[in-house]
Amino acid sequence: MRIRAQVAMVMNLDKCIGCHTCSVTCKQTWTNREGTEYVWFNNVETKPGIGYPKHYEDQERWKGGWKLDGKGRLVLRSGGRAKRLSRIFANPDLPSIDDYYEPATFDKDILVTAPAGLTDTPVKRPHSALTGEPMAVTWGANWEDSLGGQSGQDDPNLARMATKVKFEFEKTFMFHLPRICEHCLNPACVSACPSGAMYKREEDGIVLVDQDRCRGWRMCVSACPYKKVYVNHATGKAEKCTFCFPRIEAGQPTVCSETCVGRLRYLGIVLYDEDAVLAAASVEDEHELLDAQRAVFLDPDDPEVERAAREAGMADEWIDAAKRSPIRKLISEYKIALPLHPEYRTLPMVWYVPPLSPVLDAAGAAGRDDTDADDVFHTIRELRIPVEYLAELFTAGDTDAVSGVLMKLAAMRSYMRARTLDGTVAEELLDSIGMTGEQVEAMYRLLAIAKYDERYVIPAAHAKEAAALDAQAAGCSLDREGGPGMMTLTPVRGRS
Ligand code: SF4
Ligand code: SF4
Ligand code: SF4
Repeated sequence: MRIRAQVAMVMNLDKCIGCHTCSVTCKQTWTNREGTEYVWFNNVETKPGIGYPKHYEDQERWKGGWKLDGKGRLVLRSGGRAKRLSRIFANPDLPSIDDYYEPATFDKDILVTAPAGLTDTPVKRPHSALTGEPMAVTWGANWEDSLGGQSGQDDPNLARMATKVKFEFEKTFMFHLPRICEHCLNPACVSACPSGAMYKREEDGIVLVDQDRCRGWRMCVSACPYKKVYVNHATGKAEKCTFCFPRIEAGQPTVCSETCVGRLRYLGIVLYDEDAVLAAASVEDEHELLDAQRAVFLDPDDPEVERAAREAGMADEWIDAAKRSPIRKLISEYKIALPLHPEYRTLPMVWYVPPLSPVLDAAGAAGRDDTDADDVFHTIRELRIPVEYLAELFTAGDTDAVSGVLMKLAAMRSYMRARTLDGTVAEELLDSIGMTGEQVEAMYRLLAIAKYDERYVIPAAHAKEAAALDAQAAGCSLDREGGPGMMTLTPVRGRS
């Protein structure tokens, strides 16, 4: 057993309002530079939808992630080393700028420099941020925002579903899916990189690009099934979400978590057995990948695991953080968080609590007793977001696994409603989901009202070094003239 710690995230999709604050603050911090205009380390897409870049979930087209070969061995879908090298100068599996979108900028000066007395109102027209040429804006990273049934009909997940989804008025559905790099336990991007520039940090599992070693071969872009590695067209090098490692090292949450309006993100440490990763990713039956990945995680309360972690040199504060980790609770204890597309076999480490939704037949459901386990179960089958669709996203099509999670969430609501409004305890509901009242209340607290330090439990990796660097830089290293997202702040009178 080789114990490792991984920084991981869980997002509760029930609470995402699609405000894009996370995307904007991430962009202001990390990709507010020439060459990264089209890049969104964090994007929020509407599901159903074709996503960003277009159809990124169609691995027949993009050849991302891993698959099992004829002998049951795990191989990159983009091919072996020889095949990848033969395509090094002409890789057919790369999204073009049109698959992302051509970034536009606007000639805003015209609004303030236009002469007085014009008969027509001056209009700022879009120009390509890449070529400077005038352009029509026809697509964007969130072009499908809140649309659902429009381009959603081309969603690759729908193509794999046996039943047809209705996109008619009052029958269609939508929800928001915020996405960042998954900082996978079995990252395809790292394995595909011919230069050894992509790497997974030993101490916290964050996947990064060594800019000095990157030669711009872009094999990582093809290999990542989530399409979360981008090429900076000014430097010609790969860039990706850094999991805000300078903040994590200082014990602070990522920018996208800190600024999330819905407070739906959780950050924490998970301990796992690195020796078990390959076997978990190689499980033949796709429906067993979820349990296989859960089995890779280790219980920090187990004295054996704790002892092994200490022997491996893990600091006390990391072991303590792993014990208090909200991620561990949501993934392994309550089992209500699910990985995005486990069938890509990268063992992703950003998991999701799937959304509940209104029932289609609200009138029919009105007479039901929501403390009756059978009635709650029937309600799950009639949710507006089809269980089958959620299963395509989170369980490789296993509807039972998704139903089990939705049942827990619905039972939690009903249990808390009965307890709060009527003062009764719905024992039958607890039995149906195999949880105690105490557990359900703790789960409710974590999902509904958890405070900052309950949602983010991050040990400072190198607290002393971080403090020394801070003192050396006399402030934030990004806070310089022309630095990303920085502007001069004028102190407000009376405030320090
Ligand atoms: S999601 Fe991130 S870690 Fe996983 S393969 Fe893609 S870039 Fe690599
Ligand atoms: S973790 Fe940091 S770099 Fe990654 S998406 Fe969030 S804000 Fe951006
Ligand atoms: S900031 Fe939070 S609520 Fe808003 S879109 Fe991002 S994840 Fe959703």
